This record gives sequence, C-alpha cells and structure tokens, in this order.
Amino acid sequence: MFFLVLILFLLPFIAVNVCLFYLFPGPHGQEHWASVYPNCGGTAQSPINIETRHVKYDSLLRPVEPEKYGNPESDPFTLLNNGHTVEMALPISMWLQGLPARYTAVQLHLHWGSEGYPGGSEHLLDGEVFPAEMHVVHYNSEKYSNISAAKDKPDGLAVLGILLEAGDTVNAAYEHIFRYLGNVKYAGEKVVVPPFDVRTLLPPRLDHYYRYNGSLTTPPCYQSVLWTVFKQQVQISWTQLDKLQRALFSTDTEKYPAIPLVDNFRAPQPLNHRTVYASFPLGSTSAYSTGEIIAIVFGLLFGTFGLIMASFFIVRRLQLKKKKKKGQKIIVCTCCLYFFVV
Ligand SMILES: [Zn+2]
Repeated sequence: MFFLVLILFLLPFIAVNVCLFYLFPGPHGQEHWASVYPNCGGTAQSPINIETRHVKYDSLLRPVEPEKYGNPESDPFTLLNNGHTVEMALPISMWLQGLPARYTAVQLHLHWGSEGYPGGSEHLLDGEVFPAEMHVVHYNSEKYSNISAAKDKPDGLAVLGILLEAGDTVNAAYEHIFRYLGNVKYAGEKVVVPPFDVRTLLPPRLDHYYRYNGSLTTPPCYQSVLWTVFKQQVQISWTQLDKLQRALFSTDTEKYPAIPLVDNFRAPQPLNHRTVYASFPLGSTSAYSTGEIIAIVFGLLFGTFGLIMASFFIVRRLQLKKKKKKGQKIIVCTCCLYFFVV
C-alpha cells in the first residue's frame, strides 16, 4: 500500500519530459487520458487542426531566430529510445530569439505513423496529415531555472513544430539522426551522436509560421506550450520514413515479443475559443518571394499573349490560303501585324 501511495505521489514528477510520456501507446486509449490526468481534458490542448481560413495575421510576430543551433557548444549529442519516441538531448547553449522571452533548448523528438498509413504528424493543416512531425522543445529560461520548474506554467515552454513530408530525395541533415536509429532499437537504449548543425533540420523559412497557445501532446498535458508550427514543410525520403517506422520498438530487450514503436501521435484536439495567429499575411504564397511572384505573373501574361498571337497568325494564314485558292488579290501589312484581304 505504501509503495502504491508513493508511486501515485511520484507520478507527476516522473513524467517531467515533454511529449514523452505515453501511458497508452498509439492513438488507442487517448480518450482515457483525462481520467488520469485532468489537464488532458482542458480547453487549450494540443495538437490541433490549423484551419487557415480562421487564422489571424499578426504583423508583430517576428521571425524565429535559433541561436547557437549551427554551432552548439557541447559534447556529442545523446540519442535515446525512451519507449515512446526517439529523443535527442540538446545543449543549453542553444536558445530561441524572436519569442516573448528567452527560451532555452532541451531536446528534440519525433512523432510518426506506421507503414501504409498517410498520417503520423500531430498537427494538421486544413485537415491534411503529414507522415511525421519533429518537435524542438525549449523552456522559458528568463523566468524558470529548468524545464521541471517551467513545464506546468502558462509561459513555461515553447515548442517548434516541423511537419515532415516524404519524397524521393534523402535529407542529409536528418541522416545525422536516422543513421543511428539501429543503435537504439529497444526502449532504454542510448547512442552518442556527433554534434551537427541543428538548424539544418528546420525549414528554410523561419518567418512564416502559425502560433497558438496549447499543451504538451502527452500526459500530463500541461497547458504550458507556446506553439510555433512552421508553414513550410521539410522533406525526408521515403526510405528515411520507412526506417523511422520500422527501426524502433517500444519495449526493452527483455520483452518478447517486441512491440513496434509506431503511431506515437495524438489526435487533433478542439480549438475551443483559442485564436491561431499567422506571422504572414493570409493568402500570401509563402513559397515564393514578391520578385518571384511578379516574374511568374509577367511570364504568364507574356505566355498568354504569345499563344493568342500564334493562334491569330495560324487562323489568318489558313484563311489566306483558302482565299488565294479562289484567285483573290491579297495585301498583307506585316509591319502592324494586321492583315487585310481585298
Ligand atoms: Zn512531441
């Protein structure tokens, strides 16, 4: 009895990691989280489906500026299979600028689906799911001494959400992590990863993102996260996605049979009365700069004009041929591109 009481008392302290504590593996059982962790039934939960037609543009949202991401002052990183995700610890030298406070990096981890299923991301964009999503977790180091102190405070955490899509090209940056997945197949296994430029895991454009107040996506679901979900996705290869979906187990080496570590994403939660903000004007084409848009518009205009002129000449030429056959005299005024048939 004493141990039961002790465990119940310690549970909230054990579950200190962000997005890491999957009491119920996979999407099944998520509906029961709130009965054990009341915050999971709160009104500001994550993830969400970002409906762009309801998003509000906020011109004051500055670009996210990762500091020391490119040159982390650290010994090698440590990659861990914690049974719920694969997590890489980040050095405290890495932090974010451009947010309401200074947020220091703690760790990054991934969410993904399973073979043959298109989903795996936690956030959705206009109902669209993506095969995977990476989260880079930070805590408010201006106000709190560490993540344990910050994790349940309304302004405690900031997480970057990067939606991953699959394509033909291998993403070299993600290989810095994926090449070591085979070394952390079972829960509890760790491997040392040489330090690399973590900025390369993020999308090129850090000025276009969605921002809202939400929660951890795993129990205890504290509503303490300032979310930044980038509009631009990052592509990994089909082979890399396949490796992520197949390489890991949620069970340790002792357990038989081993249970694949898949579908570690939470279903989208109700937005309720929250507002999702965008750092860019709504309706803008984020993938193109203003110059590129002007070039495209002029290209289309000239292309259309060219097609019209070509069609005009062809039609007129056919008409002239017909009339020439009938013995009519033809005067062609080519300098002004008009044809007169006499
Ligand atoms: Zn997460």
